Amino acid sequence: MARIGVSTGIDSDRQSVYSVEDAWAHALDRGGSVDFFGSHFQLPNQRILGDLSALQRTADAWLASDQCLAWYPNARALHVRARKGGSRAHYESTGVIAIPLEADWACRETVLAHEVAHHLSWDQQVAPHDANFRLAMTRVAEIAFGPQAALLLRAGYHGSRLDIAYVN
Ligand SMILES: [Zn+2]
Repeated sequence: MARIGVSTGIDSDRQSVYSVEDAWAHALDRGGSVDFFGSHFQLPNQRILGDLSALQRTADAWLASDQCLAWYPNARALHVRARKGGSRAHYESTGVIAIPLEADWACRETVLAHEVAHHLSWDQQVAPHDANFRLAMTRVAEIAFGPQAALLLRAGYHGSRLDIAYVN
């Protein structure tokens, strides 16, 4: 029986979120000057984090940033582990990120940022890639890559009609 008014938690935005973030990640692969509706700004080049300790150190640094502590004062510690044979990175609700280290793309900062955003929004989410996730993702984007990169990501979400959780 369908239960009306109860969240089903279906991850219906996943594919749209992935395609927006893929385009955004490619812009950060290239870096450099971006024309944004006639305004020009500089994007950084995202890094490829070569090993587990680099991934862990980067995630730790993002979580310890002043912005992250202000936005998510109750954020728990995060553990990055290697995932064997997987074709994707994923977040485990226990505060663990699993990344297939043998895949170059999986060690990019934007992939880590996506999983860190799952970590930060886990307690608030209704579905895994919902508006609370997207808010967390734009915040991690700002911490990791600066306000211009975060603006670009927000614009991408809006362009695909993906709303972002509202905060005062
Ligand atoms: Zn995800």
